Amino acid sequence: MAFFINNKEFLNQEEFSKFGRGCATKIPTPIEIMRVDEQINANKSRRQLFSKLTIEVRFHHITFGARGLITKTQRRQQIELLNKAYAGANLTFVYSESQVKFIDNENWYNMGHGSANERQAKIALGADPHKYLNFYTGGLVSGLLGWARFPFDLAGDPDIDGVVMLDESLPGGSAAPYNLGMTAVHEVGHWLGLYHTFQGGCDGIGDHVLDTPAHSGANYGKPETNKPHNVCKIGDYAPIHNYMNYVDDDWMHELTLSQETRIKEQIMMYRTGLLNTASV
Ligand SMILES: [Zn+2]
Repeated sequence: MAFFINNKEFLNQEEFSKFGRGCATKIPTPIEIMRVDEQINANKSRRQLFSKLTIEVRFHHITFGARGLITKTQRRQQIELLNKAYAGANLTFVYSESQVKFIDNENWYNMGHGSANERQAKIALGADPHKYLNFYTGGLVSGLLGWARFPFDLAGDPDIDGVVMLDESLPGGSAAPYNLGMTAVHEVGHWLGLYHTFQGGCDGIGDHVLDTPAHSGANYGKPETNKPHNVCKIGDYAPIHNYMNYVDDDWMHELTLSQETRIKEQIMMYRTGLLNTASV
């Protein structure tokens, strides 16, 4: 059955999932992955992980006329979902209504990943990326739900840090079955340093998180529970409820202990600016 999402038609939902479930976050190269691992490991003994951390979100809603008008209720629900998802990593997300910005700009509204419009918009709108999570919304290039920038790219290119989300993917949006706010939870996972659970497939060490079983590729839709699906090792079960897989929004509700530890390590290595503004 043809599958429509953000003005693009796919053969079916599986094809959309192969296209990346609309997640345009770059796939880290093997060299990047190795460097990140080396840096984290080299600093492990010298760094204490925080016990709790508050992250201030700055919403930048890029609109095109009446399109892209995100409501206060949607922001509140989105923040609640982030807080629920990342509570185990001791993160609390907050935002202030007085800091919410609406910007009417057709080109920026239709931005693509890595485009000149993305860079322009972020340079014009972004708050200090070392201190805040910049959360942009817009219509984006057709077929996309969002993307994020990894923590280890902050130092080299701070201007484009943050997450970018399809406006209709926020809670109450029209991008069903991806309209319950889980795309933002997924993208914030990348922003905090998590890879997809199927990263690397069955080769090597997958997503570099030991308690997410390696699986050969993304799962999509609502895969049946208590089935191994496409795992690489007999006896394992694919992480079909993990936020960093590609399943439907209402199927995502899980982050593992090692993912939570990885998030803390990534913050202590690459996003230390967040510590200065918050209660540690
Ligand atoms: Zn992703």
